[in-house]
Amino acid sequence: MKNNIEFYNSISGRKETFKPINSSQVLLYGCGPTVYDAPHLGNFRTFVFYDLTIRVLELNDFSVKSVINITDIDDKIISRANSEKVAYDKITSKYESIFIDQWKRLNNQLPTHFIRATENISEMISFIEDLLSNNFAYVVNGSVYFDSKNSKIDYDKFVSNEEIHKDQNSEKKFQSDFALWKAWKKEDEEIFWDSPWGKGRPAWHTECSVIASNFLGNSIDIHCGGIDLKFPHHQNESVQVEALSKKIFTRYWLHSEHLLLEEDKMSKSLGNILSVQSLEEEFSLESIRLFLMTAHYRSKITFNKNLLIESQKMISKIERFIDNFNLRLDSKKFKNYDFVNEEIDFINALNDDLNTPKALGVFFNFINDFNKKNNSSAGNLKNAEREKAESFINLFNSVFQCLSVGKSNPLSDNIKDLLQTREQARAEKNWELADQVRDSLSNLGWIVEDTPKGPKVIRKK
Ligand code: AMP
Ligand code: ZN
Repeated sequence: MKNNIEFYNSISGRKETFKPINSSQVLLYGCGPTVYDAPHLGNFRTFVFYDLTIRVLELNDFSVKSVINITDIDDKIISRANSEKVAYDKITSKYESIFIDQWKRLNNQLPTHFIRATENISEMISFIEDLLSNNFAYVVNGSVYFDSKNSKIDYDKFVSNEEIHKDQNSEKKFQSDFALWKAWKKEDEEIFWDSPWGKGRPAWHTECSVIASNFLGNSIDIHCGGIDLKFPHHQNESVQVEALSKKIFTRYWLHSEHLLLEEDKMSKSLGNILSVQSLEEEFSLESIRLFLMTAHYRSKITFNKNLLIESQKMISKIERFIDNFNLRLDSKKFKNYDFVNEEIDFINALNDDLNTPKALGVFFNFINDFNKKNNSSAGNLKNAEREKAESFINLFNSVFQCLSVGKSNPLSDNIKDLLQTREQARAEKNWELADQVRDSLSNLGWIVEDTPKGPKVIRKK
């Protein structure tokens, strides 16, 4: 089933019908995290959007080869390692593990490859040598710069010239030139790699260009990132690959909008961040994932706890639907099934530039109508009706991934911990804390009942 998919290409500024270079495999690259700190919810808005893109392509029977880089060398990493007097890879391996753990726990599929920048330095050096030998780059004081005039690349497709001229660097010949290799500075101390131009390290744009073209080739189908990466990062990634290959580097550029906290972009450098880990104390991972998918990826979302509570309620509603009609969650269930009416509308919404709010609307209308028609209970439900509901639930979950598949709703560790904290608080007659914990459980969609055998949690109706 290969349906028509349309993606909004941020370079052309319009929706385009998706046609991969090779129909047997879609090549997708996503810019990954800089691992000098734990990722925040804003980063995961973008990462869940990568996962959504891949899952929608797979739903349409495309096989996807995906690569996500891990930026494990940059100025912030070097300065943190040197100020804390620890090896840089001690910092990067710690935050990389946190990133991958949260990536998995938010039900994102693993990409075909996660690739660390530091494992491809010799490839980056060869790539820069190629640019130099073709006169597309020049060396100044041990740094190498891309020569934007000699490369004769079309810069205007990413931004207006005005934006190009904002950047200042006295070593560069032209404003639009950019670093490919950064020479070692005293503050870098022992962190450097040897190169034909002396000690130093690759620059960020070159990391992504080399990783993308080494693992996917010089022409890829889809390149994803947050909107802040469109310029200059994606422009500079693109022009250096195209200068050598003379082919279009990326056919569809997909950029997600930001998650905001009180009107500002959530960002590590502004310090206004919320981590997945801190939110997990109050909300389930499934509700965090669903919250990130409730808005269209190209709209900004402002973080608000009420939105997470709403997402939790949506999940409780689906879980009640599953319980009431005794439906089975099975990730393979919807495969080879002939989709009908609402399911086709649901798929069409996702294929229309990943319109998750519209797809959710179609899904919840189906649940509401089904409940009405069948009195919210399995009663005299016909097999064909049950199959239809099961098929849609499994289709929904194949993309949204916010229901536990193959488990009979076990209590998560988080709920178990909260129950234990409440019991402890009650034993210590700390009624205030006990009530607070009960409220947290309620926000997560659970009601606590104290029975002679101890507390019992039941799903909120
Ligand atoms: P970084 O670790 O800062 O290099 O960012 C990793 C990815 O997260 C990039 O694709 C960024 O565009 C994206 N990103 C960073 N902050 C936000 C935000 N507040 N909302 C959405 N995406 C973001
Ligand atoms: Zn990148």
